[in-house]
Amino acid sequence: MNAIPTRMRGFRKLSRRPDDVAVVDLDVPEPGPDELLVEVAGCGVCGSDLHAVHADRGYESMRIPVVLGHEFAGRVVAAGRDATAGVGDLVVAVSIQGCGGCVRCQGGRSQLCADRRILGIHTDGGLAGYVRVASRHLVPVPDGLGPVEAALAEPLSVAVHAVLERTSITPGTRVVVTGPGPIGLLAARLAHVAGAEVLVLGTAADTALRLPFAERLGVATANLSDVAAAEAIRSRFGAAAPDTWLEASGAVPAFGAAVGEIGPGGQITVIAQYASPVEFFVPDLLRRDVTLAFSYAANAAAYDTALRLLATGVVPTAEFQTRYALDDTPTALADVAAGRVVKAVVVPGG
Ligand SMILES: [Zn+2]
Ligand SMILES: [Zn+2]
Repeated sequence: MNAIPTRMRGFRKLSRRPDDVAVVDLDVPEPGPDELLVEVAGCGVCGSDLHAVHADRGYESMRIPVVLGHEFAGRVVAAGRDATAGVGDLVVAVSIQGCGGCVRCQGGRSQLCADRRILGIHTDGGLAGYVRVASRHLVPVPDGLGPVEAALAEPLSVAVHAVLERTSITPGTRVVVTGPGPIGLLAARLAHVAGAEVLVLGTAADTALRLPFAERLGVATANLSDVAAAEAIRSRFGAAAPDTWLEASGAVPAFGAAVGEIGPGGQITVIAQYASPVEFFVPDLLRRDVTLAFSYAANAAAYDTALRLLATGVVPTAEFQTRYALDDTPTALADVAAGRVVKAVVVPGG
């Protein structure tokens, strides 16, 4: 193993001013007693990183300065005195980290812990050469999965929680997914692999890249800028209404379409963040006995499921990820903002 350098590059939020970010030279951190030092192999960039860069509402608790990045995988290169994982292990980090001791953490809902800390928001994240993480927040990568590919575990864990844990999908379930961003695409893929009949709905902005990509994942698509949701659903499912609606767009009209089109006894699962309030008429859902569920992030067990799924090749990782050098992180963010890539992944050693 190469010697650990003393300095590294890192993509840092420098102040609370919007867009005050830069790739800068930093000290390689020293792992604390229960921490491991991870050499980052790949770190995904996602919409929440853009919110952090812009210092949007909801990001007031961000520590400043902070290295961004919460979707990373890498190799353990040094361990603190009491740390449990071994040097040389390939790992991913759980991005929303619970205290480990409270009722929610003990009950497997660490992402709901009142004292949770978010990587790349409250502690330095993975858009850097190295990152230190407490050993109990690391999940081992199974054999057969590459270190950069494993960086998809974080977004896939979100889809695992939403599709496999918060929603019941069996062969033949008719599933609509609104919002073909990375989470929506991964959710659609999981539903497809579970045997569902899937329809992914996007808008004109999705026609160049995301809807064609969804079709390559094996699912049908429609563009709501061209066709009404009801019509798209009829041409996919005939007279039958959707049983399940995975709302991954965060767009108010998409939620309205879900309320309007979900079938009797069906379920709407919301995975996306919303920037504005949503209004709906309760009897529209009440009289159809609809279940309305929300799915937030994931725990370590869902990461483990996600990693095992990635290792079996469920997601075409090479097509999913577009790679960038660490110094090109601003370009990666711009490409994510413009929808020019499905998933940007920064490769510090590449
Ligand atoms: Zn993310
Ligand atoms: Zn807790």
